[in-house]
Amino acid sequence: MSWERAEEVAKPVLKCPLCGGTQFEQQKGRMDSRWGLTSHKLILKICQKCGLVLQFSAGRGIFDFD
Ligand SMILES: [Zn+2]
Repeated sequence: MSWERAEEVAKPVLKCPLCGGTQFEQQKGRMDSRWGLTSHKLILKICQKCGLVLQFSAGRGIFDFD
């Protein structure tokens, strides 16, 4: 067991569930709810390989977007 490998496991890498690609275009957006009471900040990750769009809620995911 190497320490480098342990660090890789600790920091998750976003992977496309469809094609397994790891290159993503990032876009930030906002989605207002239908009732206008709350709004969610969204982060969109668009797979550069197959175009699949992944949606995340900003600030809550396990991935670091900064
Ligand atoms: Zn993909």
